Amino acid sequence: MTAERFREEIIDHLLHTFGVTPENAGDETYYKAVALVVSDLMRRGRSETEKRAKATHTKQVYYLCMEFLLGRSLKNNLFNLGLEESAREALRTLGVRLDALYDQEPDAGLGNGGLGRLAACFLDSLSTQGYAAMGYSLRYEYGIFRQKLVDGWQTELPDFWLPGGKVWLQEAPEKAVEVHFDGHVEEAWYDNHHTVNHKDYTKVLAVPYDMCISGKDGRAVSKLRLWAARSSDFDMKTFNSGNYLRAVEQNAMAEVITKVLYPEDNNPEGKSLRLSQQYFLVSATIQDIIRRHLFEYGTLDSLPELTAIHLNDTHPVLAVPELMRIMLDECGYGWEAAWDIVSRTVAYTNHTVMKEALECWNQDLFRLRLPRIYQIVEEINRRFCADMHGRGVDGYKVGRMAPLNDGFVKMANLAVVGAHHVNGVSALHSEILKETVFRDFYQEMPGKFTNVTNGIAYRRWVAQANPGLAAFLEKHIGGGYLADAAQLEKLLPLANDGTALRELEQVKRENKQRAAGYLKKAYGAVVNPDSIFDIQVKRLHEYKRQHLNALHILSLYLWLKEHPQADFTPRTFIFGAKAAPGYYFAKQIIRFIVKLGEMIDADPAVREKLKIVYVEDYRVTLAELLIPAADISEQISLAGTEASGTSNMKFMINGAVTLGTLDGANVEIHEAVGDENIILFGMTTEQAEALRQSGYRPGELANNHPVIRQALQLMENGFGGMDYKDLASSLRGSDPYMVLADFDAYAQARQRAEALYRDRQVWNRMCLTNIAKAGRFSADRAIREYAQNIWHADPIPQIPVNKKG
Ligand SMILES: *Cc1c(COP(=O)(O)O)cnc(C)c1O
Repeated sequence: MTAERFREEIIDHLLHTFGVTPENAGDETYYKAVALVVSDLMRRGRSETEKRAKATHTKQVYYLCMEFLLGRSLKNNLFNLGLEESAREALRTLGVRLDALYDQEPDAGLGNGGLGRLAACFLDSLSTQGYAAMGYSLRYEYGIFRQKLVDGWQTELPDFWLPGGKVWLQEAPEKAVEVHFDGHVEEAWYDNHHTVNHKDYTKVLAVPYDMCISGKDGRAVSKLRLWAARSSDFDMKTFNSGNYLRAVEQNAMAEVITKVLYPEDNNPEGKSLRLSQQYFLVSATIQDIIRRHLFEYGTLDSLPELTAIHLNDTHPVLAVPELMRIMLDECGYGWEAAWDIVSRTVAYTNHTVMKEALECWNQDLFRLRLPRIYQIVEEINRRFCADMHGRGVDGYKVGRMAPLNDGFVKMANLAVVGAHHVNGVSALHSEILKETVFRDFYQEMPGKFTNVTNGIAYRRWVAQANPGLAAFLEKHIGGGYLADAAQLEKLLPLANDGTALRELEQVKRENKQRAAGYLKKAYGAVVNPDSIFDIQVKRLHEYKRQHLNALHILSLYLWLKEHPQADFTPRTFIFGAKAAPGYYFAKQIIRFIVKLGEMIDADPAVREKLKIVYVEDYRVTLAELLIPAADISEQISLAGTEASGTSNMKFMINGAVTLGTLDGANVEIHEAVGDENIILFGMTTEQAEALRQSGYRPGELANNHPVIRQALQLMENGFGGMDYKDLASSLRGSDPYMVLADFDAYAQARQRAEALYRDRQVWNRMCLTNIAKAGRFSADRAIREYAQNIWHADPIPQIPVNKKG
């Protein structure tokens, strides 16, 4: 689209959609008008994609996830469609700055962290590579809460994102479906047929809101369908009898289902509302998929050949019994035939090995809320157990694998039983799955288990987030890397090119300055762009060990007080993390970090050397600003706890050096870059396990270690008007994530990092090598692996579309 044409369309939307003249429109209206121009284009692209997929009977990929952490869309879409220059020029002639419009867009925060961001990155790659794909999730009215720190304490504010965000959504009321809850099931024999009737249920209407997801160069456009809950009918009788509140209340009860995203990360929320959300997503989605399939092909027999349904984590696993329900109760299938189809259609990705994070639901709650689904789960369970017993599997083991056990519905077990493939998200994680949580299953059905290491939409994380680096890449290796991330390796010959390395250093320096400018503006924080930017941004969780980072900074502080003359490269430590609202201990860690930062700021003897910035409300848009500015990427989870991590990949491709443990995908980053280009420390998974087995005694360790002892004492004595006894005593007491055991190794690793950083040539070469080797962490590669090994799906063939239909 030319700038001229773009301009006309913007004006058209201003006048006719918003009723305002170009002269009177503000940035917010301009943002919406531009978004609508882009949306219109994408919708046309989407119908082309759908037409081509239909004409060629291309297998459809459906990606189900309770979270999609999309961030902003305008810039991404303009970039993918190659329209940024036209838009910029069109707006310039109207006296409007495109960059100012970007800031009008709220983040679509429909996710908590890595899981939801992965889903968003995957949709980008599905489009770019031309698969026939749809994502399904919920249209939460409130996304992930806005974090506000009050004297270091996290408070949560609602994130009402729709006013600015809904321009990207198109309501499709004609595609609404009903979802049924509660009631009871009646079974009968009727004319020799066994019939099942779900009676007296509550109906909730699921209304789709569609968002188009563009791929690079518009090869295909994917659709993200978000369901909103609506009361299915207004109870006129109750209203007319004068019971106004009750009538309105019934409406509100239905709509509450998609009111808020659960702000829990790696931790199940055992509430009935959460179960309702999961079933609501699944039931609406499966009905939608089946309707589309039947319309196209007239039978569900071909479902496994023509659709792949992917469950991102266990949250949408009720897709398995829901598919069974529709086939049995509504399509006349018998159990075996239905089960055969379902279990060849559904696949499942596991995201955690932490036992407390494996979802399970109280059987009674489940039965009351979803009576028919419960019956089906019972039958799946009965048949699975009978089959295992028949194969001579030991009774205890069958119990451990059963979807129903101990009064609970075990969602991960149901997922493994129903799926044809189960994958972990990094090589290490997939191995741990086979040895621990799914050990029993792995012994009985080894062929189901596989690995797909996570990946990122690197075009967003480099070409858009880091324009300086994008220009550097364009200059030295051309633009081919944008379609094929493996081409980043073309950088390797520059490893000894002093001029190129200094250019790269300059790119980083400008990004640090840009980030410093933001930190000044947003927090009044003065940071030195010549200091080492050492960044840990991710959800706050004990296993991620932000407290290891902070404890070490505290020890550095104490050391600098004693060694005022020491030769020391100034450091800026940047933290960004939200804690689950009910995770009290995590909130204490946040406050500890903030207060430590204040103590340092108040101390003229160290404040030129150390600086802590805790950025509020960490989200995708802040990640895009901060990650390109990082020298050091902190990936310090206890080995064996982080499934993969994806921010480690974002940092790597932006030329930061990983300082990390051999955990999650760090293991594969290490493989890719070699010993010289990563700073590893700490116990391996096996060593951590062995230490736990042999009896880990952190209290003793603390007492025998002068540095740790001194730091813990200071926490106990307090500073900044409060003490940090809870944190200190947890570390002394049980230290579940072995912070103290890894402390020395961490301190040494940070010293190595400083030494390496001071040799600019060496450090720049490390950065360059990390960028060059980051191609394998592209989401494009991950999607190709899913498509080939799990979904057995191909991209839509690039043939001219037959215009007849
Ligand atoms: C990538 C990303 C994450 C995931 O970070 P990890 O370090 O992999 O846990 C979380 N939040 C946001 C905003 C992200 O962009």
